[in-house]
Amino acid sequence: MKLQSYAAGRWYEAPSGFVEVKSAVDGRTIAEVSSAGLDFGAMARYARETGGSALRALTFHRRATLLKDLATYLNERKEIFYERSYDTGATKRDHAFDIDGGIATLFAYSSMARRALPDECFALDGDIEALGKKGTFVARHIMTSLHGVAVFINAYNFPCWGMLEKLAPAFVAGVPCIVKPATASAYVTHAIFKAIVESQILPEGSAQLIAGGTGDLFDHLGSQDVVSFTGSLSTSLRLRNHPVVAEKAVRFVAERDSLNAAILGPDAAPGTPEFDLFVRELVREMTTKAGQKCTAIRRALVPRAFYGAAAAAIAEKLRAVTIGDPRLENVRMGALVGLAEREAVRANVDLLEMETKVLFGDARRVEVVGADAEHGAFMSPVLLGCELPLEATKVHEVEAFGPVATLMAYDTLADAVEIVRRGGGSLAASIFTYDAQAANALILGIGSYHGRIISIDRDDAGEQTGHGSPLPSLVHGGPGRAGGSEELGGIRGVFHYMQRTAIQGSPTRLASLLRAWSRGAAEVAKDGHPFRHRYEELEVGETIHTAARTITLDDIEHFARFTGDRFYAHMDEEAAKANPFFPGRVAHGYLLLSFAAGLFVEPAPGPVLANYGLDNLRFFKPVSPGDAIDVRLTVKQKSPRKPEYGEVRWDVEITNQNGETVASYELLTMNATELGVSQAALLPA
Ligand code: NAP
Repeated sequence: MKLQSYAAGRWYEAPSGFVEVKSAVDGRTIAEVSSAGLDFGAMARYARETGGSALRALTFHRRATLLKDLATYLNERKEIFYERSYDTGATKRDHAFDIDGGIATLFAYSSMARRALPDECFALDGDIEALGKKGTFVARHIMTSLHGVAVFINAYNFPCWGMLEKLAPAFVAGVPCIVKPATASAYVTHAIFKAIVESQILPEGSAQLIAGGTGDLFDHLGSQDVVSFTGSLSTSLRLRNHPVVAEKAVRFVAERDSLNAAILGPDAAPGTPEFDLFVRELVREMTTKAGQKCTAIRRALVPRAFYGAAAAAIAEKLRAVTIGDPRLENVRMGALVGLAEREAVRANVDLLEMETKVLFGDARRVEVVGADAEHGAFMSPVLLGCELPLEATKVHEVEAFGPVATLMAYDTLADAVEIVRRGGGSLAASIFTYDAQAANALILGIGSYHGRIISIDRDDAGEQTGHGSPLPSLVHGGPGRAGGSEELGGIRGVFHYMQRTAIQGSPTRLASLLRAWSRGAAEVAKDGHPFRHRYEELEVGETIHTAARTITLDDIEHFARFTGDRFYAHMDEEAAKANPFFPGRVAHGYLLLSFAAGLFVEPAPGPVLANYGLDNLRFFKPVSPGDAIDVRLTVKQKSPRKPEYGEVRWDVEITNQNGETVASYELLTMNATELGVSQAALLPA
């Protein structure tokens, strides 16, 4: 099958230059790949002009909803993708990471975006900051979508997840993409991409596919574009050093080699649960996806005294691993993605063997079940041993991207930390200890070298998720050698495709631009109490000022009796006076909140469905018996939740008779929309 690219709204088949891609399992040719003749400049323009403008016209919530629709569509077809994916050597268990994991990432980004981002085309980042004493000039950061194209260059090991984990944040950010999968597994990405096009869910131009090389694409990139690369250190260096990337300051993020470590603590002797967990985790990491996982454990550190026992226990488990046709239920480990990739792993094992001993396996001999060992890219797991890792270099530099790990002995925790750091920055590390001091020393010692650290012990053994990235909201990426992209993950991943800009102006200008009210901005007066207004009718800035209420000593005593809160500051004049904050007995803070509600609430059934919390509550000034309080209630921000209701954030300020603020907070309510009101018959006709 000749894989076509999807460029400028149509499928394109190259006339020549095909590279054959063979099944990892039986070596038959299953795809031919070429991008010869593609007009890469036209693809970049099409993305920016057609895809970008369509995406930027949608709000975050709309984009997130499309992403969820797409996830649902792909989820219904995943058996088709599994079928293709077996030929990469992946087992059904491996599909859970790549295919199910990729689709789950779309769902996760969709709900994260609807929760964390407004129903707008821009996002706020951080709070308002006053720039002058009088508060007439303020600043706030906003994020707006880049007007460029995101180019995704992916590694072969995650043909589905690799594409979708990049597509999701860029799509939410409103940036179109061009996907370039690795040739060796491009047929899996192609099948998923084909389904994406067929679904017609994404706006035209928001995603294009290159089957084959990137040609002169980089020559057409500019300062609004982003390159997200996953692959080897050497390719990443070549691409990062492209003159256009440097000259036009093209955003470039790389996720690349990583010599991830697992560390067995000094307390975790053979026989402890942590020892067993360490052995099980290492074997799992070596054999899942035949070790072709960016987060797989490459260096396994154990106290010198446990080195022999650990080697024996790991070897015993590796011996039980069945290798062969990934479609077979009893096969635990399939093949590497191709013969060339297996050769690269073998060559790296040769390099590592210069400083290590083979403790288990043979990179050039393997027994397989149900498959042809001649033509398939099968390989035995290989456990290497290094007793003096501080004197070795290759074990900290060479990544054999397959079922290969090196067991290392360490003497002290400080040595263990130093050995891990020699990897130069990694995606993930795990520590196996039940000793709090050892865990703290390790985590703080290696923290700055990692994107994620997983502490595994008997308490979390049942739920721990291992080295893989369990949630897209967590950091994915790592410092230094791992690519330097530790910032990515969650909403930060979305913001990577956006520009942060400080907007400075009057509070009123910012409130109208950002649809977020802040103190000092003009108040909006409307007819009727805001609690009578439906979600759509409420206007940001809409404000009421209540009447005043005088607080008496009787109120305070009644409140104390009623609630049982007899704290001395409310009940004992002498003790209260002795306190540096109070002039004498003062009202309870909670009494003020309750009275404030009594002042601003409009009690009849109406669009306000529920009060679901307060944010940023502060008490600024004590209220003494005889003081009078009144309240300002202002609509600060609105966010839709469901067709029937939305969230309203109110700015509430309680003031005393001298105009001094005694307390302020943000009140959150759920308010019915017109639909919600009619469904619940909340307003009298
Ligand atoms: P690779 O050889 O560097 O290739 C990665 C991607 O770059 C492929 O799509 C490849 O396309 C493309 N590419 C190669 N040369 C290019 C060029 N001159 N211009 C444009 N694109 C180019 O890496 P790989 O062997 O596929 O993947 C294995 C590596 O990926 C391992 O080292 C692993 O550690 C790393 N990895 C890292 C992470 C992470 O998150 N840190 C995740 C997964 C994998 P072709 O296939 O068409 O050559």
